Amino acid sequence: MDLFEYQGKQYFARFGIPVSPGDVALTVDDAVEVAERVGYPVVVKAQVQVGGRGKAGGIKLADSTDEVRTHAGNILGMDIKGHVVERLWVEKASDIDEEYYASFTLDRAAKKHLLMLSAQGGVEIEAVAEADPDAIVKLHIDPVDGLSTDAAHQAAVDARIPERALDGTADILVKLYRCFTEGDCDLAEINPLILKPTGEVHALDAKVTLDSNAAFRHPEWEEYSATEVLDEREQLAKSKGLQYIGLEGSVGIIANGAGLAMSTLDVVNQVGGSAANFLDIGGGANADVMASALEVINSDESVQAIFINIFGGITRGEEVAKGVVEAMGRVELRAPIVIRLDGTNAEEGRKILADAGLPADKLISKPTMLEAANAAVAIANGSE
Ligand code: GDP
Ligand code: MN
Repeated sequence: MDLFEYQGKQYFARFGIPVSPGDVALTVDDAVEVAERVGYPVVVKAQVQVGGRGKAGGIKLADSTDEVRTHAGNILGMDIKGHVVERLWVEKASDIDEEYYASFTLDRAAKKHLLMLSAQGGVEIEAVAEADPDAIVKLHIDPVDGLSTDAAHQAAVDARIPERALDGTADILVKLYRCFTEGDCDLAEINPLILKPTGEVHALDAKVTLDSNAAFRHPEWEEYSATEVLDEREQLAKSKGLQYIGLEGSVGIIANGAGLAMSTLDVVNQVGGSAANFLDIGGGANADVMASALEVINSDESVQAIFINIFGGITRGEEVAKGVVEAMGRVELRAPIVIRLDGTNAEEGRKILADAGLPADKLISKPTMLEAANAAVAIANGSE
């Protein structure tokens, strides 16, 4: 789950990372109220989950009530790369001497945490990686050992961060690493990490992605669900309790079990198609779950064919079939279904489908995964 900048900063603050005082504003009047409270000059910042807000005009310095009014009015409702600004963060403006970059992620291949640190911050790190890859220091951290202050200090030296900013940077790196690990983040990024004329080092921006799999041990994350940015399909899926991830292709996919769902995506790709989503209805799914899954897939306008791939273990074929029939009675499906039903009670399931009297061009049954994939992709690609 991605956090907004203000939520990321509040998260950082829990781990002792210095951030500027500020508050959220939903209206121009709110923004003025916050500005008066924190004191001028302030920065008015668009809260959207996309980078490059500065360049897009979504971040403005304001020295007076009038300026806050003007900027807040302009930024609220602004469209930044398809994200409409509904919320502002107004914080006390900082004086900046230098801008750095720091982030922690997981390097799955290395099975280690990865610190990336650069003295060239404030711009997109991809741009730095392209123009001057040596300007980014990469340090792998063994999760068992963790990150010591000495190692953080050395990384800052290696990144050619100036002497007077070394201690402050190392201190923040250690805190950010704690935030990343104890705070269960997939990503914890500060860009820019600034050096102030006073010598203090400070987080001016925050990009945090929480690892949703760790939500069970973070009841405090509950508050983020209210502002979570999901597309319509994902919202519907969430409300139905389904494991759904929206993708860009045209074959809607329903499978039981994450492994089978992923293999299904691969097979669809192999035969020249592209998946519109990942959807795992899980083990033991009943008719109602299948019907909900079809409703979610059906809400996606780019879906041209629906591929249901079920290998029943504890999921039973007749329940799957009942769900399909029920869904087809409940909603007008925009695309034909190709189904491969195998495993527990598959025979009974196929019989239910055959007896339901559904039109042959709306429901196509195939005996194997590959044949079903071929049929679904042929329909989606318009060759059938
Ligand atoms: P992004 O463009 O979405 O990454 O937004 P950031 O929060 O990183 O801000 C972009 C740029 O705006 C920063 O790199 C700074 O140069 C500038 N900026 C943001 N806040 C302040 C501030 O308090 N004072 C000054 N002088 N500049 C700021
Ligand atoms: Mn930034």
